[in-house]
Amino acid sequence: MIEVDGSMLEGGGQILRMSVALSAVLGVPVRVFNIRAKRSDPGLKAQHITAIKAVASLVNADVEGLKLGSMEIKFNPKIIGGGSYRFDIGTAGSTTLVLQSLLPAAMFAKSRVNVEITGGTDNPLAPPVDYIINVLKPILSKAGYNFNIQVLRRGFYPKGGGIVRAYMEPVMSLKPIKLEDQGSIKVIRGISYSSRLPEHIANRMANSASKILRSHGFDVHIELEVLQPNHPKCALSPGCGIVLWAETSTGCIIGSDSLGEIGKPAEKVGEEAAMKLLAEIKGGGTVDSHAADQLIVYMLLADGESVIKTSNLSMHTLTCIELSKKFLPEVSFEVIEGEPVTIRCRGIGFQRG
Ligand code: ATP
Repeated sequence: MIEVDGSMLEGGGQILRMSVALSAVLGVPVRVFNIRAKRSDPGLKAQHITAIKAVASLVNADVEGLKLGSMEIKFNPKIIGGGSYRFDIGTAGSTTLVLQSLLPAAMFAKSRVNVEITGGTDNPLAPPVDYIINVLKPILSKAGYNFNIQVLRRGFYPKGGGIVRAYMEPVMSLKPIKLEDQGSIKVIRGISYSSRLPEHIANRMANSASKILRSHGFDVHIELEVLQPNHPKCALSPGCGIVLWAETSTGCIIGSDSLGEIGKPAEKVGEEAAMKLLAEIKGGGTVDSHAADQLIVYMLLADGESVIKTSNLSMHTLTCIELSKKFLPEVSFEVIEGEPVTIRCRGIGFQRG
């Protein structure tokens, strides 16, 4: 059984999600202790429990320690199945973080995996669902992993209730991710969304982001999604945010996002996302700093050498690299300091059994 100290480096939920995902794919049992020890509210929360349950259903795993606040779990996977599943986080916890653990395991499933997850779609400190759809999905699709995500209803804190469906097509093996050169920015696209708020909010977020990005000479197209309670996709609690992504001449997709908050002017939300994107572009990376940590697990499993560049080597990324050594000590990640930082890895070429 692989032993993972959940307090290492970042010490948050991602160590747990990635441990469970790798355990499921590689078919090795794992014990994770000190779960989320570096968070102010350590132990399992509803989102983590749902993530573990979702992966466990897929691989018929026996799991011990699965209760709220638990600091330790044992996950013993069997065969990766396939099929259709439905999970309700029961809180506004992030559906996309549940997907973060499920996507790698579903990639090598016996057959297509369909899953419906109820919870939050746009949460602080988690990828907004439009980030997964417009940034992570096209990057992984180039490596041969295709999945579709449908948002049936948005979900914001506190009521949650967002419904996301994901349809994942397994692969025999994953092609490496080769993003070595940022190239030039062809276009910046985005979505500015709101539920249960006046229409001017989404407009103001989009206008403020567009103004900043256009002043730097970029071609900008931001779509608006304004939902009111008479629309089935409208969230149960009010909320808003913006997701932006730059498409480059070399096929890179660089994302950024910002979430609305009570008391934060809409212009500020748009400005934050635009400034983050400008910093990512200026930094010369081929992926944004959030994608960097989310791609490590795929680089590890891919068939060949993957290369990505990031302007900001985050603690999350370093943690994923460190964690990968626990499962596959024979694989080494090369982190070449510089501006941007280059991350290289020859993956194990995992084949679907
Ligand atoms: P914790 O469980 O520790 O409270 P968590 O479960 O939210 O936190 P983290 O370990 O902090 O987990 O991982 C959060 C994940 O969400 C990381 O993959 C990170 O890159 C991603 N993420 C966070 N913020 C954003 C964002 N604004 N845009 C895209 N991805 C994000």
